[in-house]
Amino acid sequence: MANAPLSELRRVVVLGTGGTIAGRAASSGDNIGYTAGQVGVADLLGGIEAPEGVTLVAEQVAQVDSKDMSLDIWQKLAQRCVHWLAQPDVVGVVITHGTDTLEETAFFLHSVIASAKPVVLTCAMRPATALAPDGPQNVRDAIVVAATAGAHGVTVVCAGTVHSGVDIQKVHTYRLDAFASGDAGPIGYVEEGAVRRVRAWPEGAALEASKALDAVGQWPRVEIVMSHAGASGALVDALLQVGGAEPVRGLVLAATGNGTLHHALEAAALKAQDRGVAVLRATRCANGRILPRPDDRLRDAGALTPVKARIALMLELLGK
Ligand code: ASP
Repeated sequence: MANAPLSELRRVVVLGTGGTIAGRAASSGDNIGYTAGQVGVADLLGGIEAPEGVTLVAEQVAQVDSKDMSLDIWQKLAQRCVHWLAQPDVVGVVITHGTDTLEETAFFLHSVIASAKPVVLTCAMRPATALAPDGPQNVRDAIVVAATAGAHGVTVVCAGTVHSGVDIQKVHTYRLDAFASGDAGPIGYVEEGAVRRVRAWPEGAALEASKALDAVGQWPRVEIVMSHAGASGALVDALLQVGGAEPVRGLVLAATGNGTLHHALEAAALKAQDRGVAVLRATRCANGRILPRPDDRLRDAGALTPVKARIALMLELLGK
């Protein structure tokens, strides 16, 4: 490798953020009683063979259980992605991440990174100390995707399946194959070090890239309120009244079915909208999208889940 001409050097950068993939348990038979975010990303690469001609670079960006993911970490992660993707010899970036908020980080990066190169998130459902950890194969598969010619956009690799960063959702609490892409279906599969693609790579949105990357501490506050049987407007009213704390600028309503809301919640949301709060309806359903109706008074988020709609609304408000 040391003698290869500079033009032939190909690097894949692996950014570590923590998660179960970096988790440690007291016993190898324990797949749930572990502490996430313990093993360094360089150690996660131990024993993983890079594709031919590819050199791996490891960088620790954070070390958290992804249930505790923060906007500051997102920002740092996006900045590191942008930095590395700009290096001519870097063909792609892999991110090791917890499964709990993986779909949020993937959608955030999809929304802010404009690059012709791939960003591939990966994870594990079992800790690194497990009898049969799933992390090493997932990392290896993610590196394969990152090094695949023509790959681009933000994707997630888990259990041999490549998902788009837009469509992916965690759908299982325990199984190794914990993610699905809903109606869209996966982008492809990784089989023995090769990608079998069944649909196009995702195209990046990257509308608010520069603002989002510099927005330390300036993220607009957007909250999610769920519509359900017996719902009321009390939570929305309380959010609007909070004194002293950062004011709510946006509300995502986790709506039933095709974007419908309990009438009491809807009334409170319309009042909030009249007072200048940005309101967006996103469906609670795991599949499908909200089909708009001419008499809608509150905007809808299409196919975005409530957590992704929240990110979209924060970025929208950041751009104002
Ligand atoms: N709580 C863990 C995390 O999200 C779960 C996992 O990684 O599977 O970091």
